[in-house]
Amino acid sequence: MSFAALGLSEEIVRAVTERGYTEPTPIQAQAIPVVLSGHDLLAGAQTGTGKTAGFTLPILQRLSATAKPTTAKAPIRALILAPTRELAAQIEESVREYGKYLKLHSMMMFGGVNINPQIQKLRGRVDILVATPGRLLDHVQQRTVDLSHIEILVLDEADRMLDMGFIRDIKKILALLPKQRQNLLFSATFSAEIKLLADGLLNKPALVEVARQNATAELITQRVYPVDRERKRELLTHLIKEHNWHQVLVFTRTKHGANRLAEQLGKDGIPALAIHGNKSQAARTRALAEFKSGELQVLVATDIAARGIDIIELPHVVNYELPNVPEDYVHRIGRTGRAGSEGEASSLVCIDERKLLNDIERLTRSEVPVVQVPGFEPDPRIKAEPILNGQNRGQGGRGQGRGQSAPRAGGGQPRSGTGGKPAGGHGAGRGAAPVLHRSGGRGR
Ligand code: AMP
Repeated sequence: MSFAALGLSEEIVRAVTERGYTEPTPIQAQAIPVVLSGHDLLAGAQTGTGKTAGFTLPILQRLSATAKPTTAKAPIRALILAPTRELAAQIEESVREYGKYLKLHSMMMFGGVNINPQIQKLRGRVDILVATPGRLLDHVQQRTVDLSHIEILVLDEADRMLDMGFIRDIKKILALLPKQRQNLLFSATFSAEIKLLADGLLNKPALVEVARQNATAELITQRVYPVDRERKRELLTHLIKEHNWHQVLVFTRTKHGANRLAEQLGKDGIPALAIHGNKSQAARTRALAEFKSGELQVLVATDIAARGIDIIELPHVVNYELPNVPEDYVHRIGRTGRAGSEGEASSLVCIDERKLLNDIERLTRSEVPVVQVPGFEPDPRIKAEPILNGQNRGQGGRGQGRGQSAPRAGGGQPRSGTGGKPAGGHGAGRGAAPVLHRSGGRGR
């Protein structure tokens, strides 16, 4: 299967070929024809599957096929909403790159930066707008953006947008769009909330799905390192130095924890920076650029900040603390082993986190192999303590797992359900490897 065979124009095929893509990934092969046909789409795909090109390529094609004369001012025709600044920036970069031989103009907007340059840019021609919901509504309020000619709407990483409490913003934005339009919804997981959103938004959508949700990628080697809570940093430094790990993305539960860890690693002689919502956009961009170039050995991030970080062949992800929400584990380790390359996901687990680990293993239906590093054996006298410090999501979090790893109602069944797929009962798939496989980070 080639990109041209999917019905994409020569200009678009040329751009993706130059990017080095030889054939569409499974999500692209399925989604592109649907979007080109003008139908609504509900896509189950997580980062790493090639989903961004799955919607940007056909959008570029549709808009360019009916491009208005190249006047300075034309209405915005496609709106792509993303949960984070990083993701919005990456999507817009893709739009620009894939559309470089077309006469379409794109723009990104997100909060945390001066609004005036954005207002200035909106005065010029923008065909495709990539935005985070909050800043878009700021523009709506200031009447600096006109959404009344949107032909195509994309909600990317919709599950994450709901997690971050964007549902009201999304509804406000939807109310401003023309009724007649094409809607595309991408989500890694299908909770009841996502289904509700999809029901209200999508008109007879085609459903495409490339990965069983909550699946962990086949190319990722997972390991659990038992350690006492007070010795995690020491162990992390040991592992990084011992194995000479580079480009290590480390997850902490809180912003404060991310800062502290980055500082401590620095003192241990390991170049590290933290990235989270309290950092300025400039600091985040700089940290990400240094990390991508390999200059920065370790990037310490919270879940939200790390969402959408797109680095091909990121070799190491470390869960310095396990996430309170087991689905976040899948998202986190999805940063590695992407697009066909291998990766390692290491979790430093202390006695307080046993329950969290159980939840993760139940969700992914696999047991993560345990590696005990000599000299770091947990002290059996240390007792479990409740995990304070919530998931630091701000308002609109999932409302579970906040603060402590309290047992769930329903015997610990994953909250997001299984999206209409047979669940097989938790534990039923233990050892049944296929459940864990991502069906395609990359087409072959
Ligand atoms: P995404 O899931 O959109 O974040 O994409 C994951 C990674 O796969 C990105 O680094 C893309 O550049 C890369 N990618 C997307 N489509 C293809 C393709 N057809 N062939 C190879 N790599 C791709």
